[in-house]
Amino acid sequence: ERRRGDELATALDAARESERQKQALLAQLSQQSDMLRQLAREDGLTGLSNRRWLDAQLDRERERARRYHHCLAVAMIDIDHFKSVNDRFSHRVGDEVLRRVGRLLRDTCRSGDIVGRYGGEEFIVVLVETPLDTARSVCEKLRQRVAALDLSPLHPDLRRVTVSIGLSGDADDPVATDLVHAADQQLYRAKREGRDRVCA
Ligand code: GH3
Ligand code: MG
Ligand code: MG
Repeated sequence: ERRRGDELATALDAARESERQKQALLAQLSQQSDMLRQLAREDGLTGLSNRRWLDAQLDRERERARRYHHCLAVAMIDIDHFKSVNDRFSHRVGDEVLRRVGRLLRDTCRSGDIVGRYGGEEFIVVLVETPLDTARSVCEKLRQRVAALDLSPLHPDLRRVTVSIGLSGDADDPVATDLVHAADQQLYRAKREGRDRVCA
């Protein structure tokens, strides 16, 4: 009977150890899946939302704006003459400019706003619950802060970059309206009219 008791105690220990290992594996798995989810949403260079995640978030915000009758504004932000930054100072410097501009956009916007890299040297800011007039002031602030960003630590001959911003908002139906397309059209206008400006 004592031997049986010992055997049972050993079996119980083994079961406890295997349960502990299972829990540890589950915790590791959940941590890894969080990491993967984050990686799938993140732009590798700037750490901002990538285009896919931006599109998903924008869909959700448009739906929310329609349901709760909130204003929603979308700003498309493009660095001016960025190709010449790469050409003159190297892609490495260009990459760092993208990181710094991205960080500045994130730091200037409210935490509820969505800031992402749409691709290349283009960023999108989704200003939630924001009327067009307010959004225009925010974009003007963004434009001025980028223009004031001192980039000379990256290269002595590189001083500043500017951005052109196209803005859309105050749509009657934010779900039916293609706010990104409208912002893009305004961005082209800003480029045509001389860059370093906001068009809404
Ligand atoms: P514009 O004022 O009309 O916007 O001129 P631009 O030179 O900024 O525009 P263009 O579309 O001619 O060039 C965009 C440049 O952005 C070209 C491309 O090499 C660069 N670029 C895109 N993605 C990256 C990136 O991830 N890193 C770096 N360093 N450069 C990039
Ligand atoms: Mg561009
Ligand atoms: Mg550009």
